[in-house]
Amino acid sequence: DYNLIILFIISHLMSILGKFNPWNPSIPYEILSLNISSKLSTNSHAIKESSKDFGKIIQEILPAAVLYPSCVNDIIDLIQFSYDLPVPFHVAAKGHGHSIRGQAMAKNGVIVEMTSLNNNNNNNNNENCGVRVSWDSGLGFYADVGGEQLWVDVLHSTLEYGLAPVSWTDYLYLTVGGTLSNAGISGQTFRYGPQISNVHEMDVITGKGELVTCSKDMNSELFFGVLGGLGQFGIITRARIVLDKAPTRAKWVRMLYDDFSKFTKDQEHLISIHHNGLDYVEGSLMMEQSSLNNWRSSFFSPSNQTKIASLLSKKRIMYCLEIVKYYDDQNVNTIDEELKKLVKGLKYLGGFMFKKDVSFVEFLNRVRSGELKLQSKGMWDVPHPWLNLFVPKSSIMHFNAAVFVDIILRQNKTTGPILVYPTSRKRWDDRMSTMIPEEDIFYCVGLLHSSSGYNECKILDNQNEEILNYCDKVGLNIKQYLPHYKTREDWIKHFGKKWNIFQQRKDQFDPKMILSPGQRIFN
Ligand code: FAD
Repeated sequence: DYNLIILFIISHLMSILGKFNPWNPSIPYEILSLNISSKLSTNSHAIKESSKDFGKIIQEILPAAVLYPSCVNDIIDLIQFSYDLPVPFHVAAKGHGHSIRGQAMAKNGVIVEMTSLNNNNNNNNNENCGVRVSWDSGLGFYADVGGEQLWVDVLHSTLEYGLAPVSWTDYLYLTVGGTLSNAGISGQTFRYGPQISNVHEMDVITGKGELVTCSKDMNSELFFGVLGGLGQFGIITRARIVLDKAPTRAKWVRMLYDDFSKFTKDQEHLISIHHNGLDYVEGSLMMEQSSLNNWRSSFFSPSNQTKIASLLSKKRIMYCLEIVKYYDDQNVNTIDEELKKLVKGLKYLGGFMFKKDVSFVEFLNRVRSGELKLQSKGMWDVPHPWLNLFVPKSSIMHFNAAVFVDIILRQNKTTGPILVYPTSRKRWDDRMSTMIPEEDIFYCVGLLHSSSGYNECKILDNQNEEILNYCDKVGLNIKQYLPHYKTREDWIKHFGKKWNIFQQRKDQFDPKMILSPGQRIFN
């Protein structure tokens, strides 16, 4: 019609003037007649920015446009428009873009910059929830949180009420929607389960453009599908998160081991203590070349760093057990005694226990200072060929010998923290989409490489491939966390007996396969 002809002419003029990219034919001009047209950008800078992620490995997967929603209805309008087309275009929610391999990208589709919702929370726009704390007799304290919220903001908002979520990631500058689409794991997972186990309810916009409230009792297929669902079934716009009374301080301890068997036995013992146990248990590898100079090493004072470096030069590989016990005014006089009891009998190397006493926020936000330091040296915004795995307890000794020692130490190519810590399957609900090993106890392993450039990135990626091939060949039954595969067969293998339900949920909630194409499961 007349309006569309004018829009057509304007957009062509704009592209000639260089304000917009040439119109991408995968999106019909009619989109410009929707209310959201003023919030859509085809500006080449916006397109480039929205197609970047933390991994910096996948490049040039450019969307046709970027949506900066100011309310949930904007996203509904966009998805409904695509859904009604004979040939729909893809839509990807982008949280904070901390994916590694383009999972939040959408070639020739539309990226929804979720954090743009946050900018409008104070505009009397009651469609967006920001962070709202409440209580009810059934659920206790909880927070209704926008899917676009960063966990660090959730922390600060809930602390105003003396409350906090119970399950965290190591790094807090990730969005609620982004981590709930994976799992959200850290050293608290053994105790409280992953973040996806600490959600009562969600609002989700499906691939048909319907806004659905779901919980384990209401629209439960959607609820469990979305948790760990890699963005395949809907866009999370609100999540109701479990809260508990927040402690004020943390006793934070690291202990060094030269024996992997002793290290893992102690970790497993610590996560088995239910009554009055620890609040956080993690662990990492220490190898001469990288362990004392990464974003997790600021824990050690310079003199302790020298002491550890001298030991490392003799041992080549060591293991660092990391634990935390929270406390507050009520147990300030007994906390040291409690901690002493918990570490009694542990088999770390004498003289190699290091302690810190920090605020709760300082502990939870511990990665931030390392990030800022690396940013100032230009070492944060580099390619990150990460590999994250879940390794069954029965395979972890084999994994240490074959992967940590034989591949990683021998090849001498690590360039970032390597995490290894156990967690318990008990806190995971099998109806959720995330895949974990079958055994009761399994290990979270994170090879968090950063590379100085694309050549080094390629070398590290080849090493990752070698590790995956080895695990496959000898049957270690690992699962990838933040999974990435190149073929449909690999995805089917990844989901195993859950593949059928995953596919059925896709048919039900996103039948035209519009959402999160960057995961490359159905596209
Ligand atoms: P994005 O990268 O923007 O998106 C990830 C996927 O989720 C995409 O497919 C996207 O389309 C989809 N998505 C985004 N928002 C929504 C939404 N609202 N609804 C539905 N789908 C959506 N993970 C852990 O579990 N524990 C850790 O300790 C941890 N630490 C990390 C530290 C760093 C420095 C980095 C870079 C990552 C870390 N991660 C960790 C991984 C992280 O949880 C995931 O990469 C997560 O997806 C990042 O969130 P994001 O908001 O940046 O998501």
